[in-house]
Amino acid sequence: MLQSPARHVHFIDNRAVPAAGGESLPVVDPSDGSTFAQIARGDARDIDAAVRAARRAFDGETGEAAAGVWGRTSAVERGRLLHRWSDLVLAHQEELATLESRDTGKPISQARADAVALARYFEFYAGAADKLHGQTLPYQHGYTVLTVREPHGVTGHIVPWNYPMQIFGRTVGGALAAGNACVVKPAEDACLSLLRAAELAAEAGFPPGVLNIVTGLGAEAGQALGEHPGIDHISFTGSTGTGRRVAAAAAARHCPVTLELGGKSPQLVFADADLDAALPVLVGAIIQNAGQTCSAGSRVLVEASVHDRLLERLAERFSALRAGPAMADLDLGPLVSRRQLARVREFLDGGRTSGVRVAAQGRVADDVPAAGFYQAPVLFDEVPADNALFQEEVFGPVLAVASFRDEAHALALANGTPYGLVAGVWTRDGARQMRLARSLRAGQVFVNNYGAGGGVELPFGGVGHSGYGREKGFEALYGFTTLKTIAVRHG
Ligand code: NDP
Repeated sequence: MLQSPARHVHFIDNRAVPAAGGESLPVVDPSDGSTFAQIARGDARDIDAAVRAARRAFDGETGEAAAGVWGRTSAVERGRLLHRWSDLVLAHQEELATLESRDTGKPISQARADAVALARYFEFYAGAADKLHGQTLPYQHGYTVLTVREPHGVTGHIVPWNYPMQIFGRTVGGALAAGNACVVKPAEDACLSLLRAAELAAEAGFPPGVLNIVTGLGAEAGQALGEHPGIDHISFTGSTGTGRRVAAAAAARHCPVTLELGGKSPQLVFADADLDAALPVLVGAIIQNAGQTCSAGSRVLVEASVHDRLLERLAERFSALRAGPAMADLDLGPLVSRRQLARVREFLDGGRTSGVRVAAQGRVADDVPAAGFYQAPVLFDEVPADNALFQEEVFGPVLAVASFRDEAHALALANGTPYGLVAGVWTRDGARQMRLARSLRAGQVFVNNYGAGGGVELPFGGVGHSGYGREKGFEALYGFTTLKTIAVRHG
């Protein structure tokens, strides 16, 4: 007998709340294409209910700023709550990882690591909550001047489908530590782990209204969140085009925004680099999460004298890669959706028809379900700088290699896209490491490593089409607060 798919609803005011419109959306398992659950199809009414709940938590019934239960909660207490939430996430690691793995298609071991990262974000921000303070400033005789960091109030968080737990952790962790109440709109393709994590927040003791999740379509619930006048700050992670629309809607009512919009991040490999150390990192940086990573190292720029040697070794590794169902835990899972698979295939077709050489391909494991969204990894060689594979975010397991003559050429190629999220430099030359670290156009530069193992503590964000503002690390807390200057004239 067929089991009826599980039904999930919004999480508002610490309660399960059905969609105002009574409609739901299917949740599809990317590993086999089946519908295994339903989520609520939220619209402007649900967003409004969530924003009102958050405002009550922050401002209280009277609407006086920061007079609500959450607005009056001390920083140390906010930290304790985040600590408890972190512990609960770790205690439910397997449950959360299983939900996320099924929802997104990512291999179960990657989803387990994402659950640990979620707990680590809450742990980091738990410790930071009561260490965020202002300054006293020297000023004229007879004055004492100080600055205080105050929460915005109610923050909106638009979370994409590629790393739901990690991106939720970094954005909501920082916002709550700083004292904001949050309304979250996850991607329709991946909400289940976040709905469960929100229940754990209530169990940890967060008061009603502090954390609210409304599921639904970007064009409906997402759009309504971006436009709601009760939202004081928006954190958006996703595509450049949607980010621009969200920022424009926010600008119309002077609402500050943080945008994290992905990239086309290069790794520069010089002839003196330790290729043995670089190789697994170059492959991992594009294969992790099937390339659906904002900071994916999707371009490898290699000094011409070692190009052939590196390419041969990259090709050998690519040929051995296998894609398979999330629970098979192979090198990569399926892509998140049929839509994403079509998008990636369009890039692949474009690359091939424009004459770019395929140097190697991995394969899809035998016997994967025919209706799954699988794409074997592809390695392209000598991709011209004006080709879409060099310029645009593919968001799939596709690596573009190009060679450079010298350092100046490497830098020009690296900086030659509109993006600027992350860059990696592989060389033993210390002066070159620093020169490039300073001149690469990117929010993060890694020298002889890439990604630094996640780096919860390390500020993250981009320039240009990769967005603006920073999340992760202590820096995020500045973005989730506003600075007030108080000047007291006492004579
Ligand atoms: P989107 O930018 O459209 O989606 C990101 C988030 O924004 C999702 O939660 C989405 O909800 C929401 N959203 C969509 N439209 C609106 C809107 N009008 N107002 C407010 N929120 C909205 O990305 P896609 O999922 O379409 O992916 C397309 C490409 O974007 C990828 O191929 C990749 O290049 C890039 N991307 C980058 C990410 C990153 O980490 N920087 C993450 C995801 C995508 P919903 O999904 O429910 O529509």
